[in-house]
Amino acid sequence: MLLNFSIFTRRCRINSALLTMSSVPGKMLVLDYILAVTRSTTSDKVVLVSNYTQTLDLFEKLCRFRRYLYVRLDGTMSIKKRAKIVETFNSPQNPQFIFMLSSKAGGCGLNLIGANRLVMFDPDWNPANDEQAMARVWRDGQKKTCYIYRLISTGTIEEKILQRQAHKKALSSCVVDKEQDVERHFSLGQLRELFTLNEETASDTHDKFHCRRCVNGREVWPPSQGTDCTSDLSQWNHCFDKKGLKDQVLKASWDGAVSFVFHQRSHEDQKGVV
Ligand SMILES: [Zn+2]
Repeated sequence: MLLNFSIFTRRCRINSALLTMSSVPGKMLVLDYILAVTRSTTSDKVVLVSNYTQTLDLFEKLCRFRRYLYVRLDGTMSIKKRAKIVETFNSPQNPQFIFMLSSKAGGCGLNLIGANRLVMFDPDWNPANDEQAMARVWRDGQKKTCYIYRLISTGTIEEKILQRQAHKKALSSCVVDKEQDVERHFSLGQLRELFTLNEETASDTHDKFHCRRCVNGREVWPPSQGTDCTSDLSQWNHCFDKKGLKDQVLKASWDGAVSFVFHQRSHEDQKGVV
């Protein structure tokens, strides 16, 4: 079973105990909620993925502050050492709660089925990198329901990256351009738009879809039949509030700084196969 979420967060001031970190964005607050609720209500382990070393450093600070046991995969680690820490983490008896890795960390051998929740903290220009990272927990041998959370600060450049990904996916679901081609696809107007910040919306991506399935800020018509989490975002369920969410962890994290969520289930889940 696989459930995917794209979570849009507001910018916000933080008045919690996380003040030890300077300028913590809304996403970090939502992450703190997700981890706390997962830790206190489930026996699940979590994979945290980011493109940036500085963000991984922030994850470490958060884990130390909350006293979560974690392991961080370092790009310079030998293959042998990697295999060892993955094996240790995947063991159900092992108390490590969090596995941190860079979305660019080499592909082979990173089968993290010991965890069944994965947080993508930032999107990559190349959707193939993101898909590879998201597949770490959704592999043969996984017995639990998987939850993939993608966190996006709405109205910022990273939401534009996500829109680019969605657009590419809508154009073609089977062809992935080479990384260097991606940025060349922008026209001058699009580039200008890329650096325009829109802070007045719950989800700029949803606005751009000109969604006809929503009436008065509520999704009334479901996505087309046969769509699943491999479909582009316009064919996902979505919500402006937490009422319709079935994932209790996300529901309990909403008040952190969430403004909008796209969610979809895997094909197998909908068919009741898994
Ligand atoms: Zn809609």
